[in-house]
Amino acid sequence: MWKIFQPWSSKTLQDEGFKKFNAAFDAQEYDSEIGEDYELSLKIQVVGDNIKFRIESLLPGMVGYASSDCQHIGILGRRMKDGRIYINQAALGHELCHVLHFFDPQIMDPDK
Ligand SMILES: [Zn+2]
Repeated sequence: MWKIFQPWSSKTLQDEGFKKFNAAFDAQEYDSEIGEDYELSLKIQVVGDNIKFRIESLLPGMVGYASSDCQHIGILGRRMKDGRIYINQAALGHELCHVLHFFDPQIMDPDK
């Protein structure tokens, strides 16, 4: 079933969200002396309905999750009319931060 979205507002909202995430990032006190490499093998499951997430503890409104074994991310996607798959970038980045945190606890937990 196709749902009607307003593409102009989707892109605008995405751009505004990106600016806000950058502002939040820049608002942190930091030391720029960092140079870490992380190498992971990661499976990313993209589904149109979170009921298809491969987890036992599904929460209402959940748009993504990351497995604590650092091997799996589930994320909501939408198939557009032209066949492309649209992924919630903020949610994917958030879940990737979880994976990195599980891999190296020095990476900040994105929920805290
Ligand atoms: Zn989280």
